[in-house]
Amino acid sequence: MIFIFSGPSGVGKSTIIDAIRQKRDFQFSVSYTSRNIREGEYNGEDYNFVTEEEFLRLIDDDFFVEYEKYGRNYYGTSKNAVNNSVGSLILDLEVNGATKLLASNPSFTGIFIDIDDEELTKRLKKRGHDEAFIDERMRLAEYQRSFMDKFDYQIKNKDINTTVNKILDIIYSLEER
Ligand code: 5GP
Repeated sequence: MIFIFSGPSGVGKSTIIDAIRQKRDFQFSVSYTSRNIREGEYNGEDYNFVTEEEFLRLIDDDFFVEYEKYGRNYYGTSKNAVNNSVGSLILDLEVNGATKLLASNPSFTGIFIDIDDEELTKRLKKRGHDEAFIDERMRLAEYQRSFMDKFDYQIKNKDINTTVNKILDIIYSLEER
């Protein structure tokens, strides 16, 4: 089974995915990106970090099942990650790539994770972002929410444990089908 997770930036998707993977043995599709590595990230684990030039070459080589430019950076999923997956696989994608992949693969399950505006503002403030950045993120979240209906499930993340349990319930029910 392949699960595509998406939602507004800052909802806590990575934390949720990590928590699910601690409870269940899911594979994670390690994407390719041209963005710089951040502190605490590992090449080959969080992403395969490549230069923009390398990324463009991979596009030419038809290496990706989907890719998008998000902000100033490229992000893409290799055909290999999807086609050679064993067991259940989780993908963490922005809304454009996620909805395209869902549209062309009806057997994939799309899970959209949302968050209340107030909670999103609170999180961004806590991370030290200024008003202008927060406004931009809120506008982006509105845009990202416009894709919500294209996902099989929509979950509002209020509390991490509740969200993780809801997702695990969805997965169990799909496995029992
Ligand atoms: P970040 O730079 O914060 O790690 O990720 C930015 C956005 O890129 C996130 O919304 C994440 O879901 C998305 N993303 C990560 N990998 C891929 C990918 O392979 N394809 C697409 N379309 N989006 C991705």
